[in-house]
Amino acid sequence: MTNELVEVVLPLPLPTTFTYRIPGEMRGQPVGVGFRVIVPFGKKKFYTGIVTGLPLHPPAGFEIRDVALILDETPVIRHPQLQLWNWVADYYLCSVGDVYKAAVPSGMKMESETFVEVNPDFDFGRFPLKNDLENEIYQLVEHEEQMTVSAIVKKLDRRGTAATANRLLSRGVLIVSEKLVERYVTKKQTCLRMAPGMTEAEAFQLIGAARKQETLLLTLLAMQRSRDGRKSPGDEAPLPRHIVKSELLERAGTASSIAAAMIKKGILEQYTVEVNRFRYDGAPLAGLPALSQPQQEALDNIHLSWKEKDVTLLQGVTSSGKTEIYIHLANYILGRGDQVLYLVPEIALTAQLTRRLQAVFGDRVVVYHSKFSDNERVDIWKKLLDSREPLLILGARSAVFLPLAKLGLVIVDEEHESSYKQFDPAPRYNARDVAMVLARFHGAKTLLGSATPAVETFYKAENGKFGLVRLMQRYNNVELPEIEIVDMKEARARKELSGTFARRTVDLALDTLRRDRQIIFFQNRRGYAPVVRCRQCAWVPRCEHCDVSLTYHRALRQLQCHYCGAVYPLPTVCPQCKEPAIEEIGYGTERVEDELSALLPGKSILRMDLDSTRNKHSYEQIIESFSEGKARILVGTQMVTKGLDFKDVEMVGVLNADAVINYPDFRSGERGFNMLEQVSGRAGRRDGSRGKVVVQTYEPTHPILQFVRQHDYEGYYRREIAQRQRFFYPPFVRLIYVYIKHRDAATLRRLAALYADNLRQLLGGRVFGPDEPSVARVQNLYIRRIMLKIEVNASVSRIKELLRQTYIDLHSDPAMKQTVVYYDVDPQ
Ligand code: ADP
Ligand code: ZN
Ligand code: ZN
Repeated sequence: MTNELVEVVLPLPLPTTFTYRIPGEMRGQPVGVGFRVIVPFGKKKFYTGIVTGLPLHPPAGFEIRDVALILDETPVIRHPQLQLWNWVADYYLCSVGDVYKAAVPSGMKMESETFVEVNPDFDFGRFPLKNDLENEIYQLVEHEEQMTVSAIVKKLDRRGTAATANRLLSRGVLIVSEKLVERYVTKKQTCLRMAPGMTEAEAFQLIGAARKQETLLLTLLAMQRSRDGRKSPGDEAPLPRHIVKSELLERAGTASSIAAAMIKKGILEQYTVEVNRFRYDGAPLAGLPALSQPQQEALDNIHLSWKEKDVTLLQGVTSSGKTEIYIHLANYILGRGDQVLYLVPEIALTAQLTRRLQAVFGDRVVVYHSKFSDNERVDIWKKLLDSREPLLILGARSAVFLPLAKLGLVIVDEEHESSYKQFDPAPRYNARDVAMVLARFHGAKTLLGSATPAVETFYKAENGKFGLVRLMQRYNNVELPEIEIVDMKEARARKELSGTFARRTVDLALDTLRRDRQIIFFQNRRGYAPVVRCRQCAWVPRCEHCDVSLTYHRALRQLQCHYCGAVYPLPTVCPQCKEPAIEEIGYGTERVEDELSALLPGKSILRMDLDSTRNKHSYEQIIESFSEGKARILVGTQMVTKGLDFKDVEMVGVLNADAVINYPDFRSGERGFNMLEQVSGRAGRRDGSRGKVVVQTYEPTHPILQFVRQHDYEGYYRREIAQRQRFFYPPFVRLIYVYIKHRDAATLRRLAALYADNLRQLLGGRVFGPDEPSVARVQNLYIRRIMLKIEVNASVSRIKELLRQTYIDLHSDPAMKQTVVYYDVDPQ
């Protein structure tokens, strides 16, 4: 008997799931947990929901509506994924719908407001439209070029329109429009193989004296063998071997009529496979890199550590060759037939790594991140669903949600990176921590890697919760770079400043360039100048919607708000005193680039920041040009600090260390040390002359700078952990921020105070604030923040219950209707 009811999660920030009925005519269709269904919601809307359960009884007191369409014949979400969604929703205090929304590419969760268009490549010869309604919808969309499903429904106003439109979508007659991303429709390739059950001997017998057929078969077998032979080192299972028809015919030098004859005789079989964009079609596989003695020891120790611990931290100084160790571990897991999830904090890093990994693992490497078009992401999702093959998935944080079947290992590179944390929108998750939970659900191991582990991570390693393996020398015994602190106060007093550069920095740069080596300059602000100001009356332009001053972008000749994106023209005269006295204050990457071309004329300079990397391939292009030595100098924001491997970089210049170490928050020490140590790690990564790091600062005696100078992680960590303990910060408490936002400042002040009071009644001294964050208004919403410091072992569900209660209690206040409330658990 088919179930009559389904419990469904919708891609909406709603705290519950919903129950729908399967109408009589669909009862024969299979449906179960992980299937997608189209369901009506509200008056006119519909959404793609995921079935999360098959309840036996309808919930009391609700009208139960019918499912409009069952989209799948098999589940598209695996059980561990649903389990993970629930964990994320519980831990990060958001709804499962929020997680669903973030986890699944939009092409798989059509809703009424999704734009669709007709698929120009659809094969109507093979799959004709089935009825009038389908025809009408097709013609309407073709005529309008692009429309939302709700607009189709409105226009045609016939029963079943939404369901039919969705059926056309799932058949590929209609596709989701992607105005901004490049469109990608799955390509099909025709392949040939021996007919099932046919042995080689039988095949040759059937061919008899037909020479050309014999050649074709021999070529096919040879191609198959050569692919089988392309085993990944240490692995028994052959790689997938689809022999593409056109390639086979070309190699064999035969016409397709020969193949047709052989298909007719039942020797060969023709079939199609979907080709994916990420398919690797390159060089033969390289072997595994040979490890140095210290690397080999580290590898052995990781294996030993996994005997006892599920999670191991590999602390390896910059350029110690952690990547080579990851490759060996991945190879071991793939060889066992399991999958590997390899996370990097920044999309920029996938470019260099993809090549390194593909050289060893070929088409087992699957890359996934948000710069892919939605269609490509859907392709990858489907490929993984169908596959139990040992694959290595390389991705940024959203890759934790992919439907992996047999996860054996999670590698989190640069685990300390704050970009693993999603700040907006919900789910506000840390992909490192979610990945560890995912690994646990699969019974898989986790390796966290970093030169500068997060304080929380090192604390757990120190206390035996995680295993700890250390690799404290660089590959080839290359020395860690020498750090020179340049006192900017002194330079200024001696009149040795030109713009943002001290003379010493320029001298060292010239020296480096003379030896034809490369330089990276790190400046943590993008744009031209972070602030502009009137010299006469000190007027500063501010965003109309946010409580921040505007950044000047010279290339665009405009002022920009980095919080809401609003742009304004740069006034030529001051609007306050009418004097033409507007001047730029401070330095962004654009201005640094400008100044460098004046100081070092004739030197080619590249810039890498958010503005220069908006296109899908721009990271790759910049990184590649710099690797190939097409420019001597790279200027960038924190994007240049992380994990990149350039062999000719000898010098790194940190132009404004103070901005990095004086961030007003409990993580400032950690963030500053990590950033400086990481950026200096880009210098002198090959033998030859020792790398040199120049750190410009107005506070040369700052303790963090002293630790960086000595490359003293332990010293920094001891100081940091002592402070965290003393002032009750993580890892000694769990931190939760409650954000409250409202358009009206006075209402917000009142509500935030009330909120904090109510929380205090339940949680007492664990509640701090409300405070104004440093940017106290964004996009016309005023912001207050309440901080909760919760015992580490407190129950997640209990906290969730208390917060929910507070929210409900306050809801009787009419002003709450326009109030935005959300939580940030384990803030970065
Ligand atoms: P990390 O990730 O620890 O900063 P990498 O893995 O990027 O360091 O290694 C630094 C450099 O040393 C890279 O260019 C890498 O190719 C090289 N290297 C490290 N280990 C080996 C090895 N075993 N064989 C050859 N080259 C290596
Ligand atoms: Zn703004
Ligand atoms: Zn003025």
